[in-house]
Amino acid sequence: MTATIIDGKAFAATVREKVAAHVARIKDAAGITPGLAVVLVGEDPASQVYVRSKGKQTVEAGMASFEHKLDADTDEATLLALIAQLNADPTVHGILVQLPLPAHLDSDLVINSIDPAKDVDGFHISNVGLLGTGQKAMVPCTPLGCLMLLRHQHGSLSGLNAVVIGRSNIVGKPMAMLLLGDSCTVTVAHSRTKDLPAVVRQADIVIAAVGRPEMVPGDWIKPGATVIDVGINRVEGEGGKTRLVGDVDFASAVEVAGAITPVPGGVGPMTIACLLANTVTACCRANGLEEPEGLTA
Ligand code: NDP
Repeated sequence: MTATIIDGKAFAATVREKVAAHVARIKDAAGITPGLAVVLVGEDPASQVYVRSKGKQTVEAGMASFEHKLDADTDEATLLALIAQLNADPTVHGILVQLPLPAHLDSDLVINSIDPAKDVDGFHISNVGLLGTGQKAMVPCTPLGCLMLLRHQHGSLSGLNAVVIGRSNIVGKPMAMLLLGDSCTVTVAHSRTKDLPAVVRQADIVIAAVGRPEMVPGDWIKPGATVIDVGINRVEGEGGKTRLVGDVDFASAVEVAGAITPVPGGVGPMTIACLLANTVTACCRANGLEEPEGLTA
């Protein structure tokens, strides 16, 4: 069997189109332009690339993009004052603080200073609590993107066995909550899990969010399972060039799975698309407007 390749790049484009259409409707109906503020502290090259890409796609969707670049040695009080200003600004509907922050800043304190209604990354403890109790929350972008791909692939996820490998706050745990919300039977595996291959072989849905290149081989996959590979790992390829691989060994897994996301071009493009979706959702909730359909959990 050769798996269906889940084209995250194409699906993300449809999400961005839906966002842009809803933004146009909001502008027409209410004269409001959704706005996303991104705060970057320091000069981490990967973060700079992400922030540029977020800003570009925000503008392309018809929204306002506000970038705030602060020096690496910015103190906590200055950063908190900026967030307080953005919390109070009615033209800003979403606030994202690019992580990781420099070590001298307390990430939890900073994230929890964002107005939860503007927390488009879904990392504020209020949103974590709302998601965990099945209430309307701002949902972290990467797991939301995975959920959208799975719903598109399966329709209903009810009753399926899902194994999430990884228990981070940004991917693994919220992913597990979302799958529970869609009535999957969920197992969360991690570095201490015993006999991981046997655990993964039970899964109708495998979500790999580990950060270890090609760790999950095809012979761990139940034939016909859907595999969502969140991992982004840079490895040395031919001629010393770096290439991106996931946490799943694609070449062997594609022979066994029913459907699989590639890396790159799978989950990656969904993350920014879901950030845009969360921003338009936050804008609608803040202004009592109808929310876009199919863009939230
Ligand atoms: P973290 O490092 O925060 O978490 C990794 C998780 O994997 C931990 O829970 C860890 O377990 C678990 N783990 C590590 N080794 C093993 C092992 N041998 N067996 C089983 N579990 C193991 O990573 P993130 O969740 O932040 O990211 C995971 C991957 O997803 C990375 O490659 C990252 O680059 C990528 N990513 C991609 C995004 C996208 O947009 N596509 C967005 C965010 C992340 P333990 O808790 O026990 O240590």
